[in-house]
Amino acid sequence: MQRLPLKALLPILFFASSVSAADRPNILFIFTDDHAPHAIGAYDGWLKSVNPTPNIDQLAAQGTVFTHSFCTNSICGPSRAVIQTGKHSHKNGFRNNGDRFDWNQQTFPKLLQQAGYQTAIFGKSHLAGKPQGYDQWTVLPGQGLYYNPDFITPDGKVTIEGYCTDIVTNMGIDFLKNHRDASKPFLLMVQHKAPHRCWMPALRHLHLYDDIEIPEPATLFDDYSDNAPPARFQELEIDRHMDPHYDLFLDLVPDVEPQAIQARQDKSAWRNLQRFTPDQLAAWRKAWAPKDAAFHEANLSGKDLVRWKFQRYAKNYLRCIKGVDESVGRLVDTLDELNLADNTIVIYCSDQGFYIGDHGWYDKRWMYEESLKMPFVVKWPGVTRPGTRDSHLIQNIDYAPTFLEVAGADVPEDIQGASLVPLLHGQSPTDWRTSIYYHYYEFPSVHMVPRHYGIRTERYKLMHFYEFGNEWELYDLKKDPDEVTNIYNKAKHSKLIESLKTDLRGLQEFYQDDSDISEKPKQWQAEQRKLTSK
Ligand code: CA
Repeated sequence: MQRLPLKALLPILFFASSVSAADRPNILFIFTDDHAPHAIGAYDGWLKSVNPTPNIDQLAAQGTVFTHSFCTNSICGPSRAVIQTGKHSHKNGFRNNGDRFDWNQQTFPKLLQQAGYQTAIFGKSHLAGKPQGYDQWTVLPGQGLYYNPDFITPDGKVTIEGYCTDIVTNMGIDFLKNHRDASKPFLLMVQHKAPHRCWMPALRHLHLYDDIEIPEPATLFDDYSDNAPPARFQELEIDRHMDPHYDLFLDLVPDVEPQAIQARQDKSAWRNLQRFTPDQLAAWRKAWAPKDAAFHEANLSGKDLVRWKFQRYAKNYLRCIKGVDESVGRLVDTLDELNLADNTIVIYCSDQGFYIGDHGWYDKRWMYEESLKMPFVVKWPGVTRPGTRDSHLIQNIDYAPTFLEVAGADVPEDIQGASLVPLLHGQSPTDWRTSIYYHYYEFPSVHMVPRHYGIRTERYKLMHFYEFGNEWELYDLKKDPDEVTNIYNKAKHSKLIESLKTDLRGLQEFYQDDSDISEKPKQWQAEQRKLTSK
C-alpha cells in the first residue's frame, strides 16, 4: 500500500529549520521540456562523458540530486498540470496534450500568492489559456518557436527577436533585477521550450560536439523481442520513424521544398525556420551545408544510417541542452549578484525524461525508465547538504505540497503528493512511499504508444497495456536496469506478480483513479491493421 510521510511531523521539521514566517525562502524553479536525467552530468548516465551540463552539475554539487524522481504520465502538458495541482491526471482533468487545463481549479501558485508570495512565470506554459495565480507572466503560445518567437502577455501578443532560451532567461533576470517586490518572497518559474523537438540549437552552439562521437546507448538496436506487442507497434524509432529532413534539418532551409515541408502533419520545423532573419538563415545554412554534403557523399544505409541519425539527433538535443545549462548559470549568477542566493531555493527540473536512442527511440510516453524519470535537483542553502543523493521514490505530485510547506502554507487535503521538505532536511521518514503509480492515456495518437498503467517499486516494475487485453510486462530493475528481459511470463515469479498486482490495485484505490481501464483488444486490433497496412 501507498505510504506517505506523517503530515503531523512536517510543521515540526519546518519550524525546526532556520526559516521563519518573516524570512521565508524565495523559490526559483527552472523547468525545461524533455530533458532526460541521463543527459545531465550529475545523474551519471552514459552521456556523462560528454559533460553536457556543467552549470546544472554545479547546482547539484551544492544541493540534493533526487535519483529516483518520476512523472505520473510522461507527456508535456499533463506533467505540467500535475505540477500545478499536486494531483494525478485523472484528478486535475488533463490526461492528454489535446485536453484543456482548467485554470479555475486550485493550483499551488494561487495558494502561494494567498500566502504572501510574489509569483511569476516566463516561457513555456503548455497549458492553454491565460495563466492564473501569477502576478507577472509572459508565456509562449503552445509549443512556441526556437527563433524569434511570439509570446502571450497580459497585454496581448509580442514577437521578440533572438533565441528562445536566451529570451526567457532574460525575462527571469529582468524580473529579479527590476520587478521584485522586496517586501515579499518570490516564486519565479523560468520554463524553457528547449530541448523539445524540433531540436534547434542556438547559432553559437551549431558546431558544438562537431569533433566528438556521442556514445551510443546499449539498447540502440533493441529488437523488442522480449516485450509485449506494444513495443513493436509504436512509431518512435530513430530507424523507421525519424525523418532526416524534418527532424534533423537535412537539406532543409526555408527556400528548399517549402511545399513538401508544409505538407507534413506537424509543421513546427517549418514554422521555426520561416522565422529566421536573413543573418540567422545565412549562419544556419553555412553550418549545415558541409554536413549535408558529407552525408550525401557517404551514401549510408542500414545500421550505419541509424548511427548517423542518432549522432545528428543526439548532438542537436545536447546543443539545445547547452543553451539551457547556460541559462541556469546566468540565473544562479544573478541571484549571487543581487545577494539573493542565501535565501533562494533553486530547483532544476524537466517535465519528463526522454529516449536519446535508448531502445532505438526518441520521444517519451512509455513507463520505461528513460521517460519515466524526471531530473529533480534542489539547492536550498542552509538546508540541503552539498553533494547529497536522495534515492526516495518521488513524483511530480510532490512539488506543490513541498512549495506550500516551504511557504508555511497549509497543504489542502485533496492534494495527492507528499511534501519533500523532510527529505530536503536529510530525514528519511520510515513511512515514505515504497511504490509509485503511473498512467499514460494518449492513444491513438502521434507515436502510437498505447495506454498503460503500472507500478514501480525500488526494484520492480509491472506494466499493463490494458487496451491490448491481458498484456503485461515485468522487469527486475536491479538485474536488468535497461529493461530488456521481460520476466512476466516466468512461472517462478507468480507470487511476486500477485503481490505487485495487489499493490497496483491499492495505488489505484488510494489515488482514486476512476479512468476507463477496460480492455479493448478489438480497438487495438483495428489500429494494428491500420499500422501494418501502411
Ligand atoms: Ca515534455
